[in-house]
Amino acid sequence: MKILIVEDEPKTGDYLRKGLLESGFVVDLARDGLDGLHLALSGDYDLIVLDVMLPSLDGWGVLKTVRRSGHEMPVLFLTARDGVEDRVRGLDLGADDYLVKPFAFSELLARVRTLLRRGRSQEVETLRAADLELDLLRRRVSRAGVRIDLTAKEFALLELLLRRQGQVLPRSLIASQVWDMNFDSDTNVIDVAVRRLRVKVDEPFEPKLIRTVRGMGYVLEIPESL
Ligand code: CA
Repeated sequence: MKILIVEDEPKTGDYLRKGLLESGFVVDLARDGLDGLHLALSGDYDLIVLDVMLPSLDGWGVLKTVRRSGHEMPVLFLTARDGVEDRVRGLDLGADDYLVKPFAFSELLARVRTLLRRGRSQEVETLRAADLELDLLRRRVSRAGVRIDLTAKEFALLELLLRRQGQVLPRSLIASQVWDMNFDSDTNVIDVAVRRLRVKVDEPFEPKLIRTVRGMGYVLEIPESL
């Protein structure tokens, strides 16, 4: 993951670069608006951390040109002002989030991670296995062209199985990812949900995609005989 920081205050810029490098990102730092714009347009960045008040070209100008040239990477604005107008202006111009200075690095990191996750999930719009399709944007599932209605939990469960296609997912992992809870061996909520999901997406169709791996968990995969 590659991040561009555009920040003219040397201390803040260095501090951000160091922190993001230590968090495992590849980082470029530009110290004024024009340099930042040049890098943003030429480099392949997954996210930009953009200060508003910059020499040569301010953050608004950078963002406007970046968006006009069709770049859609998430942009996190850093602003020393906390006026509502500035935030609205930034969001109007296509910023994805903003942070008011001074801020804790941990907060910046949390925002960066959230924006990157969001960016990634938008890249893949449809998950597929055989003739089963899950449309992430429209929240729709179909198999062999037939629309299937799922509850929110069933949808989340199927999304997880499709994302990890071919991997056996232990019940404990499914519990933490879909139900946001620790696995309690007394509960059969996962088995019940998988059974319901199978009735909807597997029973009326061939081949069967969801398989129970005894003593281990569940896997979604296209059977090898095909
Ligand atoms: Ca500044």
